[in-house]
Amino acid sequence: MKWTKMLIQTLRDDPQDAEIDSHKLLVRASLVKKLSGGLYTFLPLGLRTFRKVENIIREELDRAGALEVVMPILQPAELWKQSGRWEAMGPNMFKLRDRAEKPYALGPTAEEEVTDLVKSIVSSYRQLPVTVYQFQWKFRDEIRPRFGLMRSKEFMMKDAYSFDVSMEAADASYKAMYDAYVRIFARCGLKAYPVEADTGDIGGKFSHEFHVLADAGEDGIAFCPCCGYAANLEKAERKVAAVAGDPCPAYEEVHTPNAKTIDQVSAFMGVPGSAFVKSLIYSADGEPVMVCVPGDRDVNEVKLKHFLEAGKLELADYEMVLAASGANAGSVGPVKPAKAGLRIVADMSLKGATGRIVGANKDDYHLKNVDMARDTTIAEADYADLVIAQAGDICPRCGKPMDLKRGIEVGHVFKLGTKYTDAFKAVYKNDQLQESVMVMGCYGIGVSRTVQAVIEQSHDRDGIIWPAGVAPFQVVIDLLDPADESVAKVALELESALESAGVDVLVDDRADRPGVKFKDADLIGFPVRVVVGAKGLANGGVEVKRRDQDKSHMKIVPVAEAVAAIKALLA
Ligand SMILES: [Zn+2]
Repeated sequence: MKWTKMLIQTLRDDPQDAEIDSHKLLVRASLVKKLSGGLYTFLPLGLRTFRKVENIIREELDRAGALEVVMPILQPAELWKQSGRWEAMGPNMFKLRDRAEKPYALGPTAEEEVTDLVKSIVSSYRQLPVTVYQFQWKFRDEIRPRFGLMRSKEFMMKDAYSFDVSMEAADASYKAMYDAYVRIFARCGLKAYPVEADTGDIGGKFSHEFHVLADAGEDGIAFCPCCGYAANLEKAERKVAAVAGDPCPAYEEVHTPNAKTIDQVSAFMGVPGSAFVKSLIYSADGEPVMVCVPGDRDVNEVKLKHFLEAGKLELADYEMVLAASGANAGSVGPVKPAKAGLRIVADMSLKGATGRIVGANKDDYHLKNVDMARDTTIAEADYADLVIAQAGDICPRCGKPMDLKRGIEVGHVFKLGTKYTDAFKAVYKNDQLQESVMVMGCYGIGVSRTVQAVIEQSHDRDGIIWPAGVAPFQVVIDLLDPADESVAKVALELESALESAGVDVLVDDRADRPGVKFKDADLIGFPVRVVVGAKGLANGGVEVKRRDQDKSHMKIVPVAEAVAAIKALLA
């Protein structure tokens, strides 16, 4: 393939709306072109990588026994109403009507569609298990599209769905997809970590996100360098040692005028935030509950919701806070709240704590010298792990301190249970002809996002460094003297020899200066660069170099040995 025929437009400057390196490079290397906020065209170069990623995914899913289908993007509203998600999806879902005023959604996902499909075909246990998948554009009405393909309005997802006869059988389908994902990301040249994620109502360990660690990642991950435990911040547990606080004198009131937040009271009293107990009133299914955590930590609402077994959990409104505690939000505390019998739950690290400062349940007052056991009515069983994990917290598996990392989520495997199959009455008959509901799993990979994650993980200041398996072209031949027929002939013969050997190659046949070609080759990031010029040929051959090595590794190889040398560099 010739550069001049590829519709390539590299840019020297970063696009103005790009905040992270991979977004800048996607645009500058002419892989994508922005149409409007959150909408991108894949240009020929970018589409080549996109297709390679897609094919790796397809090969591995086929190998795992999954079946490819393509379902409509335009999905009738009835399906979404049947699962209850027509409302629940909120403004993130694009909704539209046809000329007969019939409502539709542009699919953000396809659990409803696929459950309806499988239900209409499968009726016997003999047809199970079955896993179907598709590559399809998905839509999300992002408030603020950003980071290029990471958070766009339209994106390519591979979504897969498994259907099984039982929860146990569904575990096997889950495992098969999990293993396929490990192989897929490895083949894409990505170091992607399976990270435990919250399972909602399913429980157990059956939800993993696959994350590429990157400083630009949007998600926080607790990561144990010692044993490899990794969990997203919603899920991440921590081990908390029991506190044996020193005895403290009886608590007393402190006047703290105009100090509402922990930071303000902490500055006013001249003590660190960790000396405080932060107390919040939540409404759990309409009932007030007080939640106490150390002053320098934040409540993990997902953990709290599970602990309280609440269907709906939200911060209480002003009236509920006042009625429950007797004060406004800044002065709430666990000692003698206004509402008799108010349930108070607390983070495990406060068990046995003494000498703490808490809100006095009286506006503009705090209490100091509070002994949590002596002065509050918190039940033994109401101490639990309720805060968001942070760096230095103790790993729940091995007991060593954990790190906090940033990650880009590229895939997700999730055991759904019967949420959708119940809603759609997707049943099968067993060998006794008794009906049971099928058990589902769902498995996504953001294809366009994966392309960008590879760049985020593999680049330097000059540009992208593509892993050979997903590069737009594995080799670029910089033809330095295109007007010189004998030189051009060498380049073109090398191109066809490489193609015959199964290597894809782009010949930079532009009439530009060598410096321009080298810069662009580094920017786009072809794994191997070959320089063919009159000077080099006079010196004995062509220059070859890998993108991830510096100039000192450049070698001159005779033309006759070039194909073997290039293949060795790619291996
Ligand atoms: Zn560990």
